[in-house]
Amino acid sequence: MLPDPRVIQLVMTLRGAGISDSRVLSAIERTPRDRFVPSGFSDHAYDNRALPIDCGQTISQPYVVAAMTQALKVDDRCKVLEIGTGSGYQAAVLARLARRVYSVERYRTLSKQAEARFSELKLTNIVTKISDGNDGWPEQAPFDRIIVTAAAPGRPDALLDQLKVGGYAVAPVDKGEGVQSLMRYERTPMSISEEALFDVRFVPLIKGVARAL
Ligand code: SAH
Repeated sequence: MLPDPRVIQLVMTLRGAGISDSRVLSAIERTPRDRFVPSGFSDHAYDNRALPIDCGQTISQPYVVAAMTQALKVDDRCKVLEIGTGSGYQAAVLARLARRVYSVERYRTLSKQAEARFSELKLTNIVTKISDGNDGWPEQAPFDRIIVTAAAPGRPDALLDQLKVGGYAVAPVDKGEGVQSLMRYERTPMSISEEALFDVRFVPLIKGVARAL
């Protein structure tokens, strides 16, 4: 099946904006974002912007998805943990590059919708779970990579404990006054090194599971 011409345009936009990893661009090209947005927004599925999804959440801007994926340095040996499944788009992009993606979401509705999309797209290497992402996924730890797609109030230490030595994590972290920095952490044998990449705007990482939804 030929890709939607709009996705080719989007990939050109991302390349122009500094996404240089051809594996990441190819993963974006092979992931139909129109399947991940509510039907009322189909016309905007390939715009380089965040869009609303159910439960008052958002599907991230394609540039941010691409930049976070690139910063994560994923390869096909990696076992990846994602916190915040949302629409499932970021997990679907990662699934093209990683060995397996474990994705945690607190809203049942979002998790179930994302699962349906993964099976439609035959993405069999994504496993989902409905729980509080602050706890990570202890039964599956340690991970080679961790990506947090909701803004943490500070360094997410409980999650970094589930990262292998030599592994990377990327997470938006609140810096106060409405500013969030996308941080990249590397776990070294003795400590954790960190680097601020650029400013972002994510929905907050909430404490606890949304049971009724
Ligand atoms: N990666 C998503 C973007 C999701 S927006 C995508 O590609 O569409 C952030 C998501 O994080 C929301 O769905 C929100 O419900 C979820 N979230 C927020 N706090 C959470 C928590 N403590 N545990 C699990 N998921 C959480």
